[in-house]
Amino acid sequence: MKALIVIDYTYDFVADDGRLTCGERGQSIDERLTELTKLFLDTEDLIVFAVDAHEEDDTYHPESKLFPAHNIIGTKGRALYGQLGQFVDELTYDGTTKYEWMDKTRYSAFAGTNLEIKLRERNIQEVHLVGVCTDICVLHTAIDAYNKGFSITIHADAVESFNPAGHEWALEHFSQTLGAKVVEKWVEVK
Ligand code: ZN
Repeated sequence: MKALIVIDYTYDFVADDGRLTCGERGQSIDERLTELTKLFLDTEDLIVFAVDAHEEDDTYHPESKLFPAHNIIGTKGRALYGQLGQFVDELTYDGTTKYEWMDKTRYSAFAGTNLEIKLRERNIQEVHLVGVCTDICVLHTAIDAYNKGFSITIHADAVESFNPAGHEWALEHFSQTLGAKVVEKWVEVK
């Protein structure tokens, strides 16, 4: 079994007027992200929407000094963006836990969440990472996955960043240093 981890594809990170937006670069992967989500929904595999959850004026949070406030709990900034958001909104949940919403408070989807337990209890060894930003939250999630012994696939056509140089650097780091498969136009090989 595999898991598709969709990282931070929310209004604040992607919309034109999002609070910490990747703008057009982030919007450019919407279609592919939606396609991959559909592909995974058609299988036994798990989908996790790992989404930043911050509190307003949280002076203890390290990101408060680094970035403008974003993904504040209770705001539209945390809603999934675009086509993907619309597709997921229209899904009727049939109770078979095919997808999970996971709040996270740090870059990595493993930090302070029950993601690892969710994966281990399902015997999932392979994680597929998509979303934003390639060189921040996707990168930190990949590093944790590497340290925990998961095998990693990065979809180069479904990750983006506001920082093109950081994006390129991270893609190389995934394959050269974390041993990840970096793929494009991936389709499930049965
Ligand atoms: Zn954040």
